[in-house]
Amino acid sequence: MIEIPEAFVIANQIDETLASKKVEKVEVPAKPNKYSFYFGNPSEYWRLLNGAVFSSARALGGMVEISFESRRLVLSDGAVITFHDKDGTPESKSQLTITFGDGTSLTVRIQLYGGIWCFNEGEFNNKYYLAAQEKPSPLVDQFNEAYFLRILDFAGAGKHSLKSFLATEQRIPGLGNGTLQDIAWTSGLHPKIKIESLSDEERGRLFSSIRSVMKKMAMRGGRDSEKDFFGNRGGYTTIMGKGTYGKPCPRCGALIERQDYLGGKIYFCSGCQKK
Ligand SMILES: [Zn+2]
Repeated sequence: MIEIPEAFVIANQIDETLASKKVEKVEVPAKPNKYSFYFGNPSEYWRLLNGAVFSSARALGGMVEISFESRRLVLSDGAVITFHDKDGTPESKSQLTITFGDGTSLTVRIQLYGGIWCFNEGEFNNKYYLAAQEKPSPLVDQFNEAYFLRILDFAGAGKHSLKSFLATEQRIPGLGNGTLQDIAWTSGLHPKIKIESLSDEERGRLFSSIRSVMKKMAMRGGRDSEKDFFGNRGGYTTIMGKGTYGKPCPRCGALIERQDYLGGKIYFCSGCQKK
């Protein structure tokens, strides 16, 4: 699933690719996948979008927001957004296909589950969408150490583990179980370590790891486990994940382990990540 770095990359690619394109056709399947969550009636989306011209795209946490004049199309993590050339093969499992006047198109497929939300600006009050607009992304300078220590400072934070603090409750929208693994490894902290046990130095290290890992992932075009707008894998080589499980940790050589934890797998090194 895409998270902050991939949403950033895809939004930039959309911005460059769709400039001045006009929507000519909008299609949704007669029987949408039951894990595709639409806002309102998807069979009405063509009324909203037809004839509208692409304005801009931006990342909001792990979501991508595409503006067509006053209309918005917001795609949550779980949505696979792909561009197709005029002669491209149609995407058979697309849950939303937008064809432009020049014959190119954009499709949205759903991986596990995801939101496809189309609306007139201002009409959508989804809490994830609003939170992602209010809270700064670790990719921007507003996400500084003072800000991070403030979110770390709410009552009860201490009882959370690193994973539960960072990757649940939208404290940092778009930071999920995927990017979490390399952030934890980079900081030398285990995903299960309790926030209350962190020293000031470790809090600082955690903050700088969030910033540096997210930036590296974004600068390299996203993680290699995810695809961009053109269907290409990202150039960031994931350190802790499915592909490296059981292999030696690049820092200390101990074997990388895996466990089910809080609704997802965590990958870690017991040799150099403090628990
Ligand atoms: Zn290690």
